[in-house]
This record gives sequence, C-alpha cells and structure tokens, in this order.
Amino acid sequence: MRAGFPDFRLGNVLATSFTGTLTERQGDSVERIPTPQRLIDWLAVNGLAVDSCTAAQLDLARELRESIHLAATAAAIQDALPASAVQVINDRSAGGRAAAILTPEGKREWRLGSASRVEDALSVIAADAISIIAGERDGKLALCASPTCQAAFFDTSQSRTRKWCDMNTCGNRQKKARFNAKQRET
Ligand SMILES: [Zn+2]
Repeated sequence: MRAGFPDFRLGNVLATSFTGTLTERQGDSVERIPTPQRLIDWLAVNGLAVDSCTAAQLDLARELRESIHLAATAAAIQDALPASAVQVINDRSAGGRAAAILTPEGKREWRLGSASRVEDALSVIAADAISIIAGERDGKLALCASPTCQAAFFDTSQSRTRKWCDMNTCGNRQKKARFNAKQRET
C-alpha cells in the first residue's frame, strides 16, 4: 500500500473491480488511480503487471473505465447500450495482445504482449467487461442500492438479490444508517 493514496476496492470480477477504482460516483467521488503509478499498482494486484504507464495511457484506462461503467449501468437497467461506450470497449479489446495461460496448478493467468503494455492489460479488462455485459457468465448486472454509489456490480449470489456493490463498504454503511435511524425513533 502506498502512503497518501486511497486504497483499492478489490472484487472477484475484473471489469467491475476496475470501475470500482472510482467510488462514490453519485456523492463525493474518490479517484483510486490518481496517478500512472497507481494504475501500475492496481494492474499488478489484479494479475496484469505492466512495466510502465504514461499519463496518456492512464487517460486511456480511465476512458475505458467510464465506458464500462456506462455500458454496465445500461445493461443493469436493461437500457440500450450507449454506442460511444461500446466503441471504446471494443477498441480497447481489439487494441492489445494478451494470452490466457494455464499454470501447472490449473489456474489461469494472463500473459501480456512482449512489452507488457498498458494497452494489453486494458484489452483483458475490456474482454472481461464484454463477457459480463453480453450475459455470457453466470451472474447478473445490478446497481448498488447506496444512493451515493449506484455502481454497477456483477451479482453472482445464488438468489441474485445482492443489493450492494461491496458488503464491507456500501453494505455496512447502509446498515449503520438504518440502525442510527431506528435509534433516533426510539
Ligand atoms: Zn456501492
């Protein structure tokens, strides 16, 4: 963890973990990849280590992030997908080289192109977004019930009734707010 920067919210779904690098989108938003180095750090934590990142590549990453956010939100509420967001996701998906690698332990890893470019990592994230937005994976896109968040998340619970993007943050805060409101009533 680097001192002075907001920490990362990590989930099990790559694409929505990535959109979660900007949190509290409907409130006081928190940018969790404010510098190129923080994008390098985030990619490393998510199995997509790159050698370097320029300011322009960070811009590219943020553009992809916001496009995934828009498309996933539209999919969650069964709205038409915004064409410009779809275009960005497709461009990033096609614009990098990465190969799925099977480890001896039977795990999947990503091998990025020879120079381990940010664009290669973004192509993996874009492809992940495509698979959840296209409904290829077991789960359902939904919006977080926290009014200051409303992040699109991928619900893989058995009942598909998850309400919050993250139990430890949004879920907990809502519970506390309800508890406090009840205390006031009594
Ligand atoms: Zn949330």
